[in-house]
Amino acid sequence: MKKSVRKAVIAGNWKMNKTPSEASELIKQIAEKAEGKNGCEVVLCVPFVDLCAASDAAKGTNVKIGAQNVHFEEKGAFTGEISVSMLKEVGAEYVIIGHSERRQYFGESNETVNKRVKAALAGGLKVILCVGETLDEREKGITGETVSVQTKIALLDVDSEALKNVIIAYEPVWAIGTGKTATADQAQEVCAKIREVLADKYGNDAAEATTIQYGGSMNAANAAELLAKVDIDGGLIGGASLKSEDFGVIIDAAQ
Ligand code: PEP
Repeated sequence: MKKSVRKAVIAGNWKMNKTPSEASELIKQIAEKAEGKNGCEVVLCVPFVDLCAASDAAKGTNVKIGAQNVHFEEKGAFTGEISVSMLKEVGAEYVIIGHSERRQYFGESNETVNKRVKAALAGGLKVILCVGETLDEREKGITGETVSVQTKIALLDVDSEALKNVIIAYEPVWAIGTGKTATADQAQEVCAKIREVLADKYGNDAAEATTIQYGGSMNAANAAELLAKVDIDGGLIGGASLKSEDFGVIIDAAQ
């Protein structure tokens, strides 16, 4: 199987930006850019409180809506948390799990990432699973080991059928929100490594069928070069997903 038959997915991670009314406005603008661009799936992962407005605004367009995290328990005394069924009811189809900002600021570990991945998949959400090395890990020469361990633990007890609903986003931590992008060759090397890890666990066919994104300061100027790489099937985009013009250029680059 070749890159051309994998689903290209361009996903925006809005982080803690946009109120519900601002979200509706921006989704309308992005939906115009995405109209008729059937060469890739376009997903916007918005703050929890924006989900209702975002789902309404995306109705009838080819923009899908996602959340940025989910708790692994179904319900109960978990103040401030949100469950899979809550997300589904307000129209989320996707959820980002294991973003480096959650790992860095909110105590997310490989083990809790695994719990969230399993709960999301069991409840029918599609998962965008983030992995990536810090600058220190890259400088120590342990990028491959780091992303392998993150990927393996996140996917413990996830079978090949469930893997069909998983996208892996390779996001070097040093490239997120910094304006520093991994070179296309650096990004390709690590995405290929992730595919190797998947092949070891699930076999070549499943690995070749899995969408792997690059994320980390992807923008209108560098998207085409990154997306041309054989193992980079899409992007997870922070800053540039808040500007419809720039995000539109990235969608076009993925066609
Ligand atoms: C992200 O938040 O996943 C991300 C890649 O952010 P940025 O594009 O701003 O680096």
